[in-house]
Amino acid sequence: MFLPRISLLTWILALALVSCGDSSRPKAPQLHVAEVVAGAGDVAPEVVERVRQIVATELVQLQEVFGGKKIERFFVHVHESRESMPEQLVAGVHEDAPGFAVLGRHQIHLIWGQMASTGSRPRGVVRHELVHELLDQYVGQHGNRMPRWFHEGFAQLLAGNTYLDAREDDLVWRVGTGSLPRLRSLAESFPTQTTKLRTAYALSYSYVAWLSREYGVSLLLRVARFTDDITSFGQALVGQTGKDSLQLETGWQNYVLYGSGAPWRVLLGSWFSLLMILVLPVLVLALIRRLSAEQRAARHLSARARSDKARAQEAVERRAELLRLAAENDFEEREDLDRLEQDGEQR
Ligand SMILES: [Zn+2]
Repeated sequence: MFLPRISLLTWILALALVSCGDSSRPKAPQLHVAEVVAGAGDVAPEVVERVRQIVATELVQLQEVFGGKKIERFFVHVHESRESMPEQLVAGVHEDAPGFAVLGRHQIHLIWGQMASTGSRPRGVVRHELVHELLDQYVGQHGNRMPRWFHEGFAQLLAGNTYLDAREDDLVWRVGTGSLPRLRSLAESFPTQTTKLRTAYALSYSYVAWLSREYGVSLLLRVARFTDDITSFGQALVGQTGKDSLQLETGWQNYVLYGSGAPWRVLLGSWFSLLMILVLPVLVLALIRRLSAEQRAARHLSARARSDKARAQEAVERRAELLRLAAENDFEEREDLDRLEQDGEQR
């Protein structure tokens, strides 16, 4: 065992702090720990100030959730748009993401233009990213042991809204058909495809929210705290709840199907589609009848056209016959006249 070199003055200060109580639990909220600064692009000073106000307000409340634990200094960078940011910084970040936290680096990046274009509320986005930073600081050196699903579920739960409009309702069919992704597959990373990503966020939110209702936020924080290189988050969760992972996941799935009201919301949300399915046979019959009527009308018109054509042809032929007869009569009359004229001359 060894201790780092430390000056006498530092020792005195450290002893004084210890004698004043637990140094990790400051009496007053640490508003000064968050450095909100303008990032890439043209960011108006009013925007930075607005974010600064939101951070100051939300940090006080979130610090209480994390047991008032001392917060290390971190930065909040406010960027104009995704395009204005360095490519390396946004590589791997979903194209609609209004913000992200770089864990272990004490950095939060907010994309102001993205919030405006996606309709994300700045307060919700700030709160979500603050939760990531505070949770990462809370678990300290074992931050990389936190499953991604827990980070995202906890951030959404404490932010009071979901990411990418993820909804519990989207999980109902998947729970019913057993096609949900396994939690294990969401421990390290999330899918990149938007639909799968939305499902991952919905699942994370729903499961963590259910755990917090069943066992409380303080138990979840205890699980996070007990996670280390030897004990995984899942093992700590089993240890704290007294239930194995299958019992926990089955309990949550039962809640989604029978306790969340999501199936009814899905049913009501799909009423128009369902109504269309019910009336579809009637519509098909009506369509068949209409097509039959149109076919009958077309046949009738066709027959009538043929009859008119035949009558016209007959008239043409009769007219030709009359003209021929008239021509013959005219010829015979002319012959009679010629004969009479010849007879008169002979006399
Ligand atoms: Zn997040």
